[in-house]
This record gives sequence, structure tokens and C-alpha cells, in this order.
Amino acid sequence: MAGRVRVGIGYDVHRFAPGRRLVLGGVTVPHPRGLAGHSDADALTHAVMDAVLGACGLPDIGTLFPADDPRYEGADSLQLLDEVLARARARGWRVAQVDCVLVAQEPRLGEFLARMRETLAARMGLGVDAVGVKATTPEGLGALGRAEGVAALAVALVETVE
Ligand code: MG
Repeated sequence: MAGRVRVGIGYDVHRFAPGRRLVLGGVTVPHPRGLAGHSDADALTHAVMDAVLGACGLPDIGTLFPADDPRYEGADSLQLLDEVLARARARGWRVAQVDCVLVAQEPRLGEFLARMRETLAARMGLGVDAVGVKATTPEGLGALGRAEGVAALAVALVETVE
């Protein structure tokens, strides 16, 4: 008999900035520009965290990890994800599945998606078949289409720990 399940959604967007590393799903993607942010600005991992937090009825990452808190300056977002998973477990939830979409005009992300998927899955203790990471371009439309930044969407399914 399956336990109770709940779903959450997460969305994040960061602007490109020169002199920054581009990190998505814990994977460094070679590109002349990275994303601006207080932490490593890993928009994909941030969207996953907000999806998990939402599913668990917990406050969002802006509340848990305030941008004005020096502890999170340059933070590795995978470590913040660890903290989110610990908070979920403390509430009696574990992540069962995550699915994500990256929206980026540049760079082309296709060759990095498998590593992002493996990285996020390993971090959450899931099989890779329980983590989806896809990418699409915004077809030149709007700010994302002008390659001003990268957006990420995620949904998470959590289940009660038996
Ligand atoms: Mg963010």
C-alpha cells in the first residue's frame, strides 16, 4: 500500500552575468557567461528545491536561505538541496520523483542533460528514471529569447516515509 503523496511546483530564473560559472543541476556548463546570484545561481537546483519544499508545505528557498545572509554567499546549491531534503525528512516526507524543464536560448544544453539528471538523482537518492531533465529554447521570444538569462521549472512528487 503506497503512502500518502503530495506534489509541488518550482520555478526560478537568473540573469546571465560575465565572470560567473554557469552551473545547472550541479553541472558546470562551459559558457562565456554564468548566472548572477547570491549562491552559485543554479536555477535548476533552485527550482527542484522549491518544488520539494512546496510539496512538503515548507517555506520557499527565498525564506529558508535569504539572499542577504552571508552564509549563502557563493553557496553550492547541491548543499542547499541536502538541507531541503533533511527538512522534508524531518516532516516525514521523502522525494519519490522530480521532473524539470530548462528554458535557455543559449547555450545548447542537450549534451549536459544526462549528467544533470544523474547528479540530481544521486543527490536525492533516486534512480535516474525518477528524475527528468529536459531543455527547450524560448524561440527567441522575450528576455529569455534574447539570452538574458536561464529559467527552470520543476515538479516534485513526495511520499510519506514508511
Ligand atoms: Mg534562484
